Amino acid sequence: MTHSTHEDSIHEHSFHSHSTGAYQPLDEETLFMVTQTFKALADPTRVRILHLIAEREISVNEIADTLSLSQSTVSHQLRFLKNLRLVNFRRAGTTLYYSPEDQHVMTILRQTIHHAQHD
Ligand SMILES: [Zn+2]
Repeated sequence: MTHSTHEDSIHEHSFHSHSTGAYQPLDEETLFMVTQTFKALADPTRVRILHLIAEREISVNEIADTLSLSQSTVSHQLRFLKNLRLVNFRRAGTTLYYSPEDQHVMTILRQTIHHAQHD
């Protein structure tokens, strides 16, 4: 095959085989962020909010209405999720619209929901 494909396979090999080389323990900062992220997911209200935001960009009001939560509860949890870089918002006038920061933790959430629901 082409030169670049060969290079890609070498790169992939070294990436996947790093566990057979010198073990690199997780640094303190990474460990903290990972466990904080799982703590964020260990709350029914936050899971409900994230599941809704994962679908599409949505306003604080709409989240509160859809999930029958108070606006202050939703705002409080959204600040928490924003601090952990799980969600992002844009402001349009006085309305804040929330969306997923990226798909990494959303993928974990979807996979975990799938695991909870399958036989
Ligand atoms: Zn499963």
